[in-house]
Amino acid sequence: MNSQWYGIVLLGGPGSGKGTQAVLLASTLNIPHISTGDLFRSNLKQGTPLGILAKSYMDRGELVPDEVTVGMVRERLNQPDCARGFILDGFPRNVAQAKALDAVLAETGKAISSVPYLHVSDAVLLERLSNRWTCRACGAVFNKVTPPPREGCKKEKCDGELYRRPDDEPETQKNRIRVYEKQTAPLIIFYAKRGLINEISGEQPVEHVQLDMLRAVNLGMQDASSRGKATPAAADEAC
Ligand code: AMP
Repeated sequence: MNSQWYGIVLLGGPGSGKGTQAVLLASTLNIPHISTGDLFRSNLKQGTPLGILAKSYMDRGELVPDEVTVGMVRERLNQPDCARGFILDGFPRNVAQAKALDAVLAETGKAISSVPYLHVSDAVLLERLSNRWTCRACGAVFNKVTPPPREGCKKEKCDGELYRRPDDEPETQKNRIRVYEKQTAPLIIFYAKRGLINEISGEQPVEHVQLDMLRAVNLGMQDASSRGKATPAAADEAC
């Protein structure tokens, strides 16, 4: 059993395949997949004040305010299942969140170890978002490459109903891509300056992308041990 600690941030535009890849990687490395979008959707389903607040931003494709999002992530990272690491999907989404994440990890002497970046062209992103179906019960995602079964989800005996996420509608999609380019894409430079970025083509078949991801995170671990841990102070210098 691998006792290595993995602090993985997955970067990529909306529809780049982060969710699909994160689920596979989490199962291989036996660490949790933490999607802030899923956490907000689950809060919304349960009708919590956090979910109700997040909905107004999600419906417009805008970011939920940083203090709310960072508080939610801090609480999640403090759960016992994160003791060996985690894969963050959809967080951080701007430089302020990335710095807040560094500070949260520094409290326990940890730092991000690798940042795979899934690159997919805008045209392909839009096409994927327009063909995306999500399972209401288990969150599985279907699209043109993995078409949805006609009778519902059927993933690992799930029987959930498939639906189109409201924020996958055309106008919201375009805004999500705009928000990504303006606020999230600068994180590529933020993490590249620390030598943590590994760019992977997200337009390859799912299993090829996964192999590249595994290589990227294991390479990140070797790099981290040979150069010492990246520190939040180093991150500040990088920006
Ligand atoms: P996702 O499922 O990652 O595409 O996220 C869906 C929506 O949830 C986003 O469009 C935002 O409104 C909100 N959201 C998810 N993650 C974050 C984050 N890190 N910061 C702010 N808002 C977020």
